[in-house]
Amino acid sequence: MKFELPKLLYSYDALEPFIDARTMEIHHAKHHQAYVDKLNMALEKYPELQEKSLEELLVNLDAIPQEIRTAVRNHGGGHFNHSFFWRTLCSPALSQPVASLSNPSKGGIPTGTLAEAITKTFGSFEKFKEQFTAAASGIFGSGWAWLVTENPKSEARNSKLTILTTSNQDSPISQGLKPILGLDAWEHAYYLKYQNKRPDYIAAWWNVVNWKEVEENFKGLS
Ligand code: MN
Repeated sequence: MKFELPKLLYSYDALEPFIDARTMEIHHAKHHQAYVDKLNMALEKYPELQEKSLEELLVNLDAIPQEIRTAVRNHGGGHFNHSFFWRTLCSPALSQPVASLSNPSKGGIPTGTLAEAITKTFGSFEKFKEQFTAAASGIFGSGWAWLVTENPKSEARNSKLTILTTSNQDSPISQGLKPILGLDAWEHAYYLKYQNKRPDYIAAWWNVVNWKEVEENFKGLS
């Protein structure tokens, strides 16, 4: 079984004007496709590894033969991270709870148990947003910002939320952590529209977070 590029559940222009169609197309059809192709290439000589799921490969990188470990880490991580990222995005209208549709520039907000956990951990959604934005802005070079839980096996209401960043395509699942929300902070994710202004991209991204899906990631813990 070869790994395949997942189809997006929305069109390339669905995230306009916050993330432009051209960036989405290149990001998905070129960058993500390249991670998939290079992962498959790395696994070519290892049929027994081709039987494993992407998660199985990434949660125990030490078990991967040394010769292809870096390739699996980079391209397998790239495939996992991007597949995760696409699922947590949606059109700006769908990102908004009904109450805030009248003020779409405000960006969507989480609801339910995730909102409660964020408030409990960070004080408020606004404080979480500030901390997450600062973490993503502060990444030197290419990487990702994440909201993760440290104890994925426990019930959602007891899980501890943490913001962290990873370099390159390293994935939180390789550290035994469960990602809830992730932001691609590589220049290829924003350079066409935002050039060097990563903070503007981050501010725009909050408008297209699919909070329903993010909450599912969180609830899926229990
Ligand atoms: Mn990317």
